Amino acid sequence: MGLTGIQIFKLLPKTNCKECGSPTCLAFAMALAGGKAELDKCPYVSDEAKVILSEASAPPIRGIKIGSGDNAKKVGEELVLYRHEKTFINPTAIACLVTDKMDDAEVDAKINNLNTVSFERVGLTLAADLLAIRNSSGDAGKFEALVNKALGATEKGLILMSDNLDALEAGAKAANGKGALLYAATADNFEKVAEIAKANGASVVAKGASVEEVSDFSGKIVAAGVKDVVLDTGATDLKSMFYNENQVRRAALKAKNRDLGYPTIEVLCDMTDDPYKEAMLASVAICKYAGIIVMSDIDKERMLPLLVQRLNIYTDPQRPMLMDEGIYEINKPGPDSPVIITTNFALTYFIVAAEIEASRVPTWLLIMDVEGMSVLTAWSAGKFVADAMAPFVKKSGMKEKISHNKIIIPGYVAQISGEFQEELGTEWEVVIGTREASDIPAFLKGQ
Ligand code: SF4
Repeated sequence: MGLTGIQIFKLLPKTNCKECGSPTCLAFAMALAGGKAELDKCPYVSDEAKVILSEASAPPIRGIKIGSGDNAKKVGEELVLYRHEKTFINPTAIACLVTDKMDDAEVDAKINNLNTVSFERVGLTLAADLLAIRNSSGDAGKFEALVNKALGATEKGLILMSDNLDALEAGAKAANGKGALLYAATADNFEKVAEIAKANGASVVAKGASVEEVSDFSGKIVAAGVKDVVLDTGATDLKSMFYNENQVRRAALKAKNRDLGYPTIEVLCDMTDDPYKEAMLASVAICKYAGIIVMSDIDKERMLPLLVQRLNIYTDPQRPMLMDEGIYEINKPGPDSPVIITTNFALTYFIVAAEIEASRVPTWLLIMDVEGMSVLTAWSAGKFVADAMAPFVKKSGMKEKISHNKIIIPGYVAQISGEFQEELGTEWEVVIGTREASDIPAFLKGQ
């Protein structure tokens, strides 16, 4: 946002009607300036003001959706160079490449991996996002047939890759209305590619041999009527990818260069044939600042570390991931089952819950709200301490579900056991549990 809250306020109707959800026009202006509100929430902005505000409030890197429906993947809209400044917003989309020179079995195996390889972590499902289809044969009919096959085989968004404009058009027509990304327009053919994209509801990759070359014609694609553009700056190895990605992000955010204010794509599988080198390139691209990466396959051994890395990089560092306070039942506990208390830091919950599940011992897990802190952090912040825990346990309703009186605390806060016992009184018996979650199964079996 280039305008201040006061400058925006001057362009608003100033009736304080509250229809936008803000109590006053000034509050709405401040929210707009901070990127926390959308202009279209106010129905009374004049057309003239809309033009000024839309231009000024557009994010420095345009957000672009690839695909349709629930599986559409958004990339771009990033606001910072470094995650600690605020947060990264839309995680790098991971695409799997198939070509029309592969036999059916290979295509099927890759699409199957794309559809099925996923991991559960901190309550989220982590998976790859897009299918890239390359016209390696040069034959428009083969390419169109593969696009049609892919449309029936996956719900993920498509990237259609061809140098042959007839093939690109045939593929785009087959995927009309599915939000495909066309790869790629160059300085020589962007007018025709833009036409194909407009006719089929697609977005376009602007591809050049350098950052400068791409910035020379990306704006012309927009002028030709396609607003959703992705940039390929021609990187061929780690060094050029790292350099170009930094150039583009800096130019978009710091120099407000609109011609480079788009997400980027890196076709990693063209940079190396070595799957582990490709994973290393992916790891760098996720950190620095690729919008989309195209990989040769979506195999479990490479995806797990990459997806977890992506999750970590794109998690807001100012907001801990947390669980709701309450009683969680694991392995169908009954009145005799042990009770473990811990904090609502999501990672703590999922690690402890996974170990309890693995033990197969029916267990009650009592989760206390400490603003998403881990056990030791919450203890040192005075939130996971005896005089806060005891009232929570008494009010939790846990006692009504069990026929014993034992409550197990994490071994890391063994020092609070005496005070906790005193606060709880004789209705409970405090038991010191394990320090490491990995020791929980053996501990529970001994209870
Ligand atoms: Fe002001 Fe528009 Fe919000 Fe009404 S809807 S309070 S006019 S900004």
